[in-house]
Formats: sequence, C-alpha cells, structure tokens
Amino acid sequence: MAVRLIRPSPHGAPAPPRVVFTEAQFLQWFHRFADSLARRGAVLEGPYVCPHRFAAPCACAKLGTLLYERAAMECGLELKGAVVIGDSAADMQAAHRFEGVGCSA
Ligand SMILES: [Zn+2]
Repeated sequence: MAVRLIRPSPHGAPAPPRVVFTEAQFLQWFHRFADSLARRGAVLEGPYVCPHRFAAPCACAKLGTLLYERAAMECGLELKGAVVIGDSAADMQAAHRFEGVGCSA
C-alpha cells in the first residue's frame, strides 16, 4: 500500500512532484504528528485512509462514506452536521452525502 501526499501549489507555479510513501512510512509520520498534537492537548484519531488507492474502485473510496462512518462509530461522533476539511470535490461530495459541512482548501 502507498499513500500519496499531494501538496497544493501557489497560483501560477508548476505543481511540485507528488511524493509516495509506504504504509509504514505514513503510519510513522501519522503517529509522530498525533504525538506532537497530544503534547499540545489535542487528540487526533485514526488514521482513516483508503488502502486501495491504486487498485480497483473500493467501498472506502470517496464519494463513499464508509471511512467516515467507521470513524464516527469508533469515535462516538455524529456525522450529520460534522465539519469535513478536504482538498478535493470528492471530499465535499462525501460530506454532503452524510449531511456534513465541507470546507475545502
Ligand atoms: Zn479503499
């Protein structure tokens, strides 16, 4: 499994190259990030990611809501009215499907 990190580019500048991480590298980064937030009093749950990104369509890919539903169940959250921060139209469309409120970058 690989996770692709897409960095936004400034207006008019060519997009920087995409960086691909292994699952182990991603999890190492995620846990360091979560630990740094925890030291500041914030809790980061997850990660909730689709491990099939480069495979055939799957149930957890957006526009599907499976990962959101799993996170809501495991974390005791209400999806209706939840704020979703994303970087794609698919993020916002998935949020709309469970009556969430989307914010895009
Ligand atoms: Zn998937």
